[in-house]
Amino acid sequence: MAEPVILYLVMPCYNEEEVLRMSSGKALDLYARLIDNGTISSDSRILFSDDGSKDRTWEIITELHAENETFCGIRLSKNRGHQIAIYSGMVYAAEHGAECVITIDADLQQDIEAVPRFLQKYAEGCDIVYGVRDSRDTDSLFKKTTATMYYKFMRSLGCDLIEQSADYRLLSNRAVKALASYKENNLFIRGLVPEMGFKSDIVYFHVKEREAGSSKYTLKKMVSLALNGITSFSIQPIRLVGLLGVGVLIVSVVMMIVTLIDHIRGVTVAGWSTIVISIWFLGSIQLISLGVIGEYVGRTYMETKNRPRYFISDETGDGK
Ligand code: UDP
Ligand code: MG
Repeated sequence: MAEPVILYLVMPCYNEEEVLRMSSGKALDLYARLIDNGTISSDSRILFSDDGSKDRTWEIITELHAENETFCGIRLSKNRGHQIAIYSGMVYAAEHGAECVITIDADLQQDIEAVPRFLQKYAEGCDIVYGVRDSRDTDSLFKKTTATMYYKFMRSLGCDLIEQSADYRLLSNRAVKALASYKENNLFIRGLVPEMGFKSDIVYFHVKEREAGSSKYTLKKMVSLALNGITSFSIQPIRLVGLLGVGVLIVSVVMMIVTLIDHIRGVTVAGWSTIVISIWFLGSIQLISLGVIGEYVGRTYMETKNRPRYFISDETGDGK
């Protein structure tokens, strides 16, 4: 049988005092079973990443750590948002001996009982295991439709998102290190993980209602995450400006013909034709020029991200 792995379960927490006791109890219970059957090592940890909470969250984390050293935590100096909370947790875990990390929301809406299936895929050699929700029953109609449209839109922009995947996923130690080598400030982890490559697989899980407390994902945070995803992966919106310019140029040619005919028929006021033709023509030239400049600005933007060019996934022997 395979050696037990050192697993770090990373839970981002922002003002989660109402659910933390319940979630930690469930996680510990699962850990006891997994350690018992030899799946994970007793060096495994449950790591809370406190995203600058303003309630008793950090106190509860320190209490939990004092009660049982399976629990540990880090605390960000201020609220940085869910993406940074899970990222900092994963990087910390990878630096402290984790062989693999699984991120899961602290409210445990995502079914924690799926963890053994993630580990099974890891044992089969996957570096990345995506959690994909089996349905969106618990979401409001608004969230359901906007989320589905968003995934479609992102894919059409060429970003390789896994449909309906959540931030419930397993990354191996080397996958976390690869992720950490992306130096960009605007982290859209859902887009970066598929971008890295590596052997991956999917685990389906069920989403439940939140048991206590309220959602920490305000509409503002959701919109900002969505915009982040679009702008950090695509310069297509800039291209739209150039395309618009070409569209206007075509209209301007039509307008030119129409105005010239009117001019010849003598049904126009003096000077009108010249002005109308100039407005349309100059407008299109300006938009096209903006598009051309935008193309360079966009490329400069992509270059400044300084993204890693490749990762090696396998090699023969010691490379000699
Ligand atoms: N969260 C966070 N920082 C934030 C907002 C949320 O770390 O600024 C955490 C939160 O504590 C939870 C997870 O992100 O563990 C998901 O948030 P929530 O359950 O409120 O979102 P929803 O399930 O409603 O989408
Ligand atoms: Mg939730």
